[in-house]
Amino acid sequence: MNNFTFNAKTCLDVNKLTVTPCELCDSAAGQALWQDELCRVVLIEDRDYPGFCRVILNQHVGEMTDLDAATRQRLMRVVFAAEQALRQLMQPAKINLASLGNRVAHLHWHVIARFADDKHFPGSVWSEARRAGAPRPVDRGALQRALHKLLQAVAE
Ligand SMILES: [Zn+2]
Repeated sequence: MNNFTFNAKTCLDVNKLTVTPCELCDSAAGQALWQDELCRVVLIEDRDYPGFCRVILNQHVGEMTDLDAATRQRLMRVVFAAEQALRQLMQPAKINLASLGNRVAHLHWHVIARFADDKHFPGSVWSEARRAGAPRPVDRGALQRALHKLLQAVAE
């Protein structure tokens, strides 16, 4: 499935006052797994973490509390679906959910499958490496299918 068309203009329209360019507005920022008008789920390229997903809001908004409650809830449903899909496919020791946005102040959630022998465990994936790590491969097609199925089940 390669029908993902990211419309950068959608972001830029609500982003007229922002002077600095934003990589999450200007590009898809990963391989698309799923999208709707609110957000998109992408698989990022990370050699150490093949199942590293990001849920990216399709608007340049900085904080969860900038969104109304219903929108927040919809966004988190997608985050939790990504978590569940990764758990089903990879059986990780732990899922890490993180929303930092210090460098790119555009709401996005990292959803990362972690394993006891990965490069940074038990530290965060942004901490100092503790070992070479043993990256687990992930079947992108299966991940995409799992995600679509889970999100269909929670659709309004
Ligand atoms: Zn942005």
